[in-house]
Amino acid sequence: MTYNFNPGPAMLPPEVMQQAQSEFCDYNDLGCGIVELSHRSGEFDAVRERAEQNIRELASLADNTAVLFLQGGASLQFAMVPMNLLTSGATADYVDTGPWSSKAIKEAGLIGHVRVIAGGKETGYTAIPDSAAWELDDAAAYLHITSNNTIAGTQYSVWPSIPDAVPLICDMSSDIFSRDIDFNRFGLIYAGAQKNLGPSGVTVVLIRKELADRVPDSVPGILRYTTHIEGKSVYNTPSTFGIYMVAMVTDWMKRQGGLGAIERINDQKKKTLYDLIDADDFYRGTADPGSRSKMNVCFRLADEELEKIFLAESAAAGFMGLKGHRSVGGMRASIYNAMPLDGVVSLADFMREFRRRNG
Ligand SMILES: *Cc1c(COP(=O)(O)O)cnc(C)c1O
Repeated sequence: MTYNFNPGPAMLPPEVMQQAQSEFCDYNDLGCGIVELSHRSGEFDAVRERAEQNIRELASLADNTAVLFLQGGASLQFAMVPMNLLTSGATADYVDTGPWSSKAIKEAGLIGHVRVIAGGKETGYTAIPDSAAWELDDAAAYLHITSNNTIAGTQYSVWPSIPDAVPLICDMSSDIFSRDIDFNRFGLIYAGAQKNLGPSGVTVVLIRKELADRVPDSVPGILRYTTHIEGKSVYNTPSTFGIYMVAMVTDWMKRQGGLGAIERINDQKKKTLYDLIDADDFYRGTADPGSRSKMNVCFRLADEELEKIFLAESAAAGFMGLKGHRSVGGMRASIYNAMPLDGVVSLADFMREFRRRNG
């Protein structure tokens, strides 16, 4: 048995993988695969529509929010957000909770005025800063946050309260649809699909439509949200395979009972690993307890030699992808929605046994 703890692209629900395999060459008895059809065909349109409706349903999205399937990853959104929403003379507020936030800040700084109002760089990004202390600009074009920090293993558990006039923009790449939250409090949410929603190659954007109208005249059509809202995500050829997989992953989420049910399982998975880590000093969690992520559990051992042994032995035992991000080292168990509780319990058993032998 192999359990895949890769951080992204990451494991997908096995039943979705099997369904994709079974209909890859012959979709709906058409005599060809869905990837061999036009993005403007009725068959593909039904798939895209299903993916959109599933997302609307799972997130209880308000009607004035558009669901877009774009390309270029979350990284293109680092640029598209300020290009469309940071109009000249305005300032955007950003919170720097990890390397992905920093990249978003860097891109926005090329477009307009940016203020970093809080962060955690000095302390190695081990905690989400307390939003009560933030000095928010009431006139900011928007406030940008990163809900889950994939590399440091931290996650917001409470959202900052901000003035109504300031849209909250969130990079949710690594925790979208992993918990039951109020999606309508955000002006714009974006997520590369490859952690919780599907394969790489498609980015889901949820945008309140009136925000899209801010776009300055100088922005090229392909980079405007308005273009993709009007074009229903087929202005140009999208990742048809990616959208098809998102439709199936969101079907699966609905079969699980929706986001509340998914969150309950994710909470059990999180508790299983952190309880073990906290039991004694053998494993050391790197994130502050109040900021710990349900999606990426980062931990260290006494020294790097022992970590090397842990990584080699865990890989040999079938636990794939536990190496921490190259910028921080250590270990990281990425336990997105598709990772079953069984996989996490098996990993905890392995970790207990490893501790017994090396503690
Ligand atoms: C993975 C990740 C990204 C990068 O996504 P790309 O699709 O590779 O551009 C950005 N933000 C967060 C929080 C991520 O986890």
